[in-house]
Amino acid sequence: MKILVTGGAGFIGSAVIRYLIQHTQDEVYNIDKLTYAGNLESLIDIEQSPRYQFHKLDICNATALQQIFSTFRPDIVMHLAAESHVDRSIDTPADFIQTNIIGTYTLLEVARKYWLALDTQVKQKFRFHHISTDEVYGDLENSTELFIESSPYAPSSPYSASKASSDHLVRAWYRTYSLPIVITNCSNNYGLYQFPEKLIPLVILNALDGKSLPIYGDGKQIRDWLFVEDHARALYCVVTRGKIGETYNIGGHNEKQNIEVVKTICKILDELKPQPVGWKYETLITFVKDRPGHDLRYAIDATKIEKELGWTPQETFETGIQKTVEWYLNNLEWCRRVKDGRYQCERLG
Ligand code: NAD
Repeated sequence: MKILVTGGAGFIGSAVIRYLIQHTQDEVYNIDKLTYAGNLESLIDIEQSPRYQFHKLDICNATALQQIFSTFRPDIVMHLAAESHVDRSIDTPADFIQTNIIGTYTLLEVARKYWLALDTQVKQKFRFHHISTDEVYGDLENSTELFIESSPYAPSSPYSASKASSDHLVRAWYRTYSLPIVITNCSNNYGLYQFPEKLIPLVILNALDGKSLPIYGDGKQIRDWLFVEDHARALYCVVTRGKIGETYNIGGHNEKQNIEVVKTICKILDELKPQPVGWKYETLITFVKDRPGHDLRYAIDATKIEKELGWTPQETFETGIQKTVEWYLNNLEWCRRVKDGRYQCERLG
């Protein structure tokens, strides 16, 4: 198959492309604007493959998109390009409205026109896969409730509102124009090659530099953690075998309080990078004023994808976090380069 991936130089997109090149025979065309979050070094392992090509492009550019559709002729679109950091969406929401909403609309329209003109047989094979987040559901009030595919949307941040909006557009393009779509909503991803502004890499790098480890509020917010390579496998499963028009929730069965996550990382660092006797990385933890609109708990019920498509996560949080910390310790040079002088781990928490 020919797969057009948007946002393939980002954290999850690059894991998807590495998976596609290493585990399938598919051809991949990566389009990415290369914002601060996009980094082609994440694709170094596969960039020489004759089945891979890259084009630097903003998904809001309809004319350039049309050209790529007509030359590459994709069977599948996997749409991951987005502005993805909640803190940044509070500071500069305009970028989120532009890429996540206008960009998704632009891509949908180009895909629809391309799809309409396809021969019947190829037309049946075509899929538009929109990759989204569990944050569209808002937060959970009690400790036993889980998000299911039909949970109502109640986004809290400009980021989650823009993703919710793009989900609605994708569903509308199915209901109104019959464009063959699938949607996935997943929990927090972690793993290799994540830009060091998100919780896990930020904590690892700040701890190694002896900087404080800022935790929002009391640190008791709960997130479900999904190892990025499990996610990439799940996405391939959905796009190749999922039912048209359906949504699938993807989760890692790893509900943890933020403070637990940070303490686990500190313990692993105590073992792998011990400091003078008696000193522990946990000493660096500091609590900072909570983020506005901070959701307390997200938790995913991933029964549908497990039952219908047979996907389950392979990593537990314990195995995944160990691999992740080890990877960052072995790839400090990558972290230095992606920070590129513009970003110095200064996000609040
Ligand atoms: P990321 O920020 O690491 O990567 C996003 C990529 O999109 C970057 O390479 C960036 O250059 C590119 N991009 C941004 N604007 C663009 C534009 N206008 N045109 C073309 N490319 C553009 O994000 P991620 O963590 O890899 O997330 C990928 C997708 O998965 C997003 O849609 C996000 O909402 C969703 N998601 C992420 C998580 C998570 O925990 N990271 C969880 C749930 C859902």
